[in-house]
Amino acid sequence: MDKTYLDRGSTSLLKDIDTENYNVVLVSPRAYFLFTPLLPSSTVGTVELRSIMQPIRFITRFKNREVLFIEGSCTDIDPEKKLITVEDSSEIKGEVSKQQIKYDYLVVGVGAENATFNIPGVREFACFLKESWDARKIRSQLLDSLESAAFPGQPEEEIQRLLHMVVVGGGPTGIEYAAGLHDFLEEDVKIWYPEIAGKFRITLVEATPHVLPAFSKDLIEYTEKTFAENKVTILNNTAVKKVNQKDIVVLNKDKELESIPYGLLVWATGNTARPLVAALMTKLGLAAQAQRRGLTVDEHLIVAGSDNSIYALGDASATKWAPTGQVASRQGSYLAEHFKNLYELKKKAPNSDSKVLLSQVDPFVYNHRGSLAYVGGDKAIAELPGNIHLSGAATYFFWKSAYLSNLFSLRNRILVGFDWVKCKMFGRDIGR
Ligand code: NAD
Repeated sequence: MDKTYLDRGSTSLLKDIDTENYNVVLVSPRAYFLFTPLLPSSTVGTVELRSIMQPIRFITRFKNREVLFIEGSCTDIDPEKKLITVEDSSEIKGEVSKQQIKYDYLVVGVGAENATFNIPGVREFACFLKESWDARKIRSQLLDSLESAAFPGQPEEEIQRLLHMVVVGGGPTGIEYAAGLHDFLEEDVKIWYPEIAGKFRITLVEATPHVLPAFSKDLIEYTEKTFAENKVTILNNTAVKKVNQKDIVVLNKDKELESIPYGLLVWATGNTARPLVAALMTKLGLAAQAQRRGLTVDEHLIVAGSDNSIYALGDASATKWAPTGQVASRQGSYLAEHFKNLYELKKKAPNSDSKVLLSQVDPFVYNHRGSLAYVGGDKAIAELPGNIHLSGAATYFFWKSAYLSNLFSLRNRILVGFDWVKCKMFGRDIGR
């Protein structure tokens, strides 16, 4: 049987799947997995980008049977013919750069893309926080802004603009980014750029009345208090309406349009379905796929309307759980077990109907282990099962150990651990 799957939450599926029983074909536009929770840290040099990457071939080479890996983008899924179209995603193209691949089962784990709500200028001028090249772009713009501000003769107003770092979106991504940026500016930039020390500002813009809407009230208050102590401004009830090259236009809390100049703009307003996923939803029909944020799946993670041949996990799927890495990783392990059970059942009763077989396989169960967020100044917040709320410096160690243990491999854990030690001993790297 051929199984073709694509990306992210797929890592745990790939790690756990028994390749004795299935021919596995993996399609991904990049040849590595990226641990996105630590991507904000990589933009300021707390961890190296390579430390949070796991080359796909590091996983596939330990499999019992070879996994065919294709570096390419899946551009079309034909659920009728059970075919996917894959295009070579590298810049250098050979003679063949497009292929069609047949599948028996398809697992869609392509993640989601950044939501821009069609706000003009976002794609052109803002930086996202999703891919390795996003982190490199942020780092380069951040260091450029600092150098330009320090350029002799720079007018004061321009220095103020260049040193104003704006983060849009008060979800965990925006909060953790603003927190990490604060640490970098306070702990490192102040030392290396004494001429502009004390002039940089960070503003976080959030459309709703409070940041971190998924956290409880006391932890939201703690976050807002910590940000205020760290002199990171939070503009609640403020929605970005337009992005220009040097300023954003917001509808502020008094319902007035206001221009906010920026030197670096980071956009973290959540996720939306990728075009590939949206196109598949249209093909499967509105009756089966009524949700817009991702593929509707059943209790076995089977995509509704796909005749039991397509599965979806992670941000590509729409489930009752928040689309977090924890859920995706659990879904991947579940699917590995699911396919193993399905194989055993099929071996015993080869002529059984797939519905009958599926009725004998366990549904997916998820036990939430809690939510964490770093809020800056070596402090973190945690909301754990049993209504346990933690905050402060000790919670930061908990945050660190949770992120460390969630990394893909021992190799990644050691690399990130070394980065943290290096950062404590020598400060963050300000090289490009
Ligand atoms: P999010 O959807 O959680 O937050 C986006 C925020 O942007 C919202 O609060 C929204 O009100 C705001 N927003 C939207 N449009 C805006 C506009 N025009 N102007 C100003 N503000 C605007 O997105 P996220 O933070 O990227 O998180 C995505 C998912 O990943 C969530 O499920 C989250 O829980 C998860 N995640 C978790 C962690 C963690 O647990 N530490 C870290 C990162 C992401």
